[in-house]
Amino acid sequence: MGPQVRKQGPDHRVAVRCGDVEIGENSFTVIAGPCAIENLDQALLAAKLVEEAGAKVFRASLFKPRTSPYSFQGIGAEGVPILQAIKAETSLLVETEVLSLAHLELLHDHVDMLRVGARGMRNYELLKEVGKTQKPVILKRGMSATLEDFLFAAEYVLVNGNRNVVMCERGIRTFETYTRNTLDILAVPALKEMTHLPVIVDPSHSAGRSSLVGPASKAALAVGADGILIEVHPDPAAALSDGDQSLDPPAFLSLMGELRRLAVVMGKEV
Ligand code: PEP
Ligand code: MN
Repeated sequence: MGPQVRKQGPDHRVAVRCGDVEIGENSFTVIAGPCAIENLDQALLAAKLVEEAGAKVFRASLFKPRTSPYSFQGIGAEGVPILQAIKAETSLLVETEVLSLAHLELLHDHVDMLRVGARGMRNYELLKEVGKTQKPVILKRGMSATLEDFLFAAEYVLVNGNRNVVMCERGIRTFETYTRNTLDILAVPALKEMTHLPVIVDPSHSAGRSSLVGPASKAALAVGADGILIEVHPDPAAALSDGDQSLDPPAFLSLMGELRRLAVVMGKEV
């Protein structure tokens, strides 16, 4: 797994700071937003509902890695002013996915946090470049990556100088098709046995259907995760991507309430 990600002792944990938010320690950080930024109105509606519900970080993807080249690919560079509008009109920190060095260069100064997705986890050249920045980065587990592969991917970032990596379990490919991916819930405590890095869960891309996103989120908190990366859309039925797994505003509000109550038992704060 590499020396940099390796835990030095049973209590060795290092939180990752993103603006005024500490991911790790005794917090459960909710990073929420639509699968993709679609336009200014949708983005602001989503950001305001996420802020009102008490999340601290907004997921704001401009570039979408889609399985089919015919699917919506994201609005791309045109979305940069939307990121600026979100920062101007809310108190949210902004997080976005980078798929290439060009995206990293374009988006670095406009966001508080980067994301390397499941497909990007194997893009070692990208990981090296992310490692040369100091931006906090969510690194998602590749869909066929073992925990060892996943930890080596984090090692690429750390060894290049960026210590601010948050590991994200997002489900793996199995023979099961009812869910989109199989959430490897034990990856959370397992990773915490191996590395000092914070670990979060993406309940949305693992579940693939909104009815299972709440249970997956609560399981994440109960098993010791440091947060969730969750898809919320003002109108899931009209979403350009991943509407089936996106929570609508009432469902997200109600889940936030449940997470707050469960967090008390876990000694964490949402
Ligand atoms: C995403 O979070 O937008 C995404 C595409 O998920 P993943 O990289 O886990 O497939
Ligand atoms: Mn999505």
